[in-house]
Amino acid sequence: MRIGILALQGAYVKHQEMLNRLGCRSIFVRFPHDLVGLDALLLPGGESTSMHYQLVRTGLLSPIKEFACSHPVFGTCAGLILLADWGLLDITVARNAYGRQAASFSKELEIKLTPPKKIEAVFIRAPKIEKIHSSEIEVLADTPVFIRQGKYLAATFHPELTNDPSIHHYFIQLCEKKL
Ligand code: GLN
Repeated sequence: MRIGILALQGAYVKHQEMLNRLGCRSIFVRFPHDLVGLDALLLPGGESTSMHYQLVRTGLLSPIKEFACSHPVFGTCAGLILLADWGLLDITVARNAYGRQAASFSKELEIKLTPPKKIEAVFIRAPKIEKIHSSEIEVLADTPVFIRQGKYLAATFHPELTNDPSIHHYFIQLCEKKL
């Protein structure tokens, strides 16, 4: 299996380190041809407006949306915002909902893996999921900061910035259709 990590802007390097640790192959996606042969995609955190403009500039926007319609995708933070903007997650999101960059924080969360697990979650100028519009969406944490809708996984925080690979492991299992 090979996962593509969108690498135009933002926190993509740490995601690759996490996937490496789990023995999962990945490549950085910067051009449309990078999507060929990939099994899944990871959209990192960063700044969603800037990512959007760079997706337009590189000609990636349409191919990546098309890819995302038929493959598993994990969006973290700005990546979650893109998935919601593309209509792939049925949620309403408020950007920068906790305030400015300086109001970033980290918090312990219980996530609903089997068995449930406590993790430290890092929120950086994070969005908030204000409304969930589909009964298909599973909330995988004690508050709606980590969700799954079918083949899409999304977190409003940065799971690549801690030492705990559980969330990336969950995504790999989802890609391998083990969940
Ligand atoms: N504030 C960013 C945005 O609106 C998201 C922050 C992040 O990805 N850490 O796109």
